[in-house]
Amino acid sequence: MTRDKLAPVVILSKKILSEYDLCDHCLGRLFAKKLGLASNKLLGKKIRKKTKSKNKKCYVCKNVFDTLHFYLEKMREVSSIYDFRTFLVGAKLKPSFLDRDDHLRSQFKLRGIDGIKTSITRELAKQFSRKTKRNHNMSDPDLTVTVDFKTESCEAHSKSLYVSGRYVKPVRDIPQKQKPCQNCLGKGCVTCQKHGMTEFDSVEGMICKYLFDKFGAIQAKITWIGGEDTTSVVLGNGRPFFAKLLNPKKRKTKIPDKIQSDKITILGLKQIPKIPQGPIPFVSKVRLYIITENPIISESLAKLDDLNNNAVAIYEKSGKRSEKKIYSIKYDVESQNSFCLSMKLDGGVPLKHFVTGDDIFPNVSDLISNKSNLERFDFDEVNIR
Ligand SMILES: [Zn+2]
Ligand SMILES: [Zn+2]
Repeated sequence: MTRDKLAPVVILSKKILSEYDLCDHCLGRLFAKKLGLASNKLLGKKIRKKTKSKNKKCYVCKNVFDTLHFYLEKMREVSSIYDFRTFLVGAKLKPSFLDRDDHLRSQFKLRGIDGIKTSITRELAKQFSRKTKRNHNMSDPDLTVTVDFKTESCEAHSKSLYVSGRYVKPVRDIPQKQKPCQNCLGKGCVTCQKHGMTEFDSVEGMICKYLFDKFGAIQAKITWIGGEDTTSVVLGNGRPFFAKLLNPKKRKTKIPDKIQSDKITILGLKQIPKIPQGPIPFVSKVRLYIITENPIISESLAKLDDLNNNAVAIYEKSGKRSEKKIYSIKYDVESQNSFCLSMKLDGGVPLKHFVTGDDIFPNVSDLISNKSNLERFDFDEVNIR
């Protein structure tokens, strides 16, 4: 830096310092950008030498930079339970800090300089990076550490992780979805340790339990590839699902190919970069156990063959019409008024309505001219198309 460049800065600094006491960080910050210098503190020191001034209590920051070691220790504490390679530091300052900073800038018409907040977070990031050997990353950090100077506290929050997997449910009477915590209705509270659920007796609960334990995640939001009844079993390779893990502590963890989690088995669980957007088309192999009101007549049952390689139209209450394909069917009479219908079909067909005949054409009741009800249904396969 040349002498001439610094000369006007020293003149203005003298004027400012005659009215306001400033620390090296805040003093240097007023000119560092203009002079193209990286360290506010070093520039502040240099100007101070030239102006022969002393700092007692900085007008803007009240010498907050002298207290950063206290916050760095807190940052280390809250981040120590997380796996992270990159981080971002956020800060909450008392509004009076920002007000004084604004006041000084406007009084001396200092434009295009970093604010006090940027200055603090940058200094914290620099020191935190040195201490932890992790990299500061503004755009996509693994961990965000927020320092609250108002309450003298510190919080850490990690970037969500995504996983995909499949579950096999070989036993009946397990609901797919978990009832939320009665206290917070799933939002997360002290009672449920922020999980949003207190029991883990469903497919969702059992998957979440594993993910909470394995990744130290607080919550998991599951995207299901189709659904089943409490009484259904899901066999074969299981039903695919995706999960978003909120605030995970662990990011690198070895997952076995097969996980026995209480009453279900989780297969092929792995981390993925993102959950696919929009509807995910899938094909299921299902077995429907159907009860008819009148005795079954074989000739009528044979009408079901029409469904082979055919489409069904589904009419929703909103007036929307959609078509789904049936790829194959097979039926076995089980008693005078019950039979099992095995089908391979597109996902998203409401199976109960398909049997009773409500707003789906063609449907089982109409085809066999015998009012029918779905007693139970099981899945042998569910595959994303
Ligand atoms: Zn200051
Ligand atoms: Zn709760």
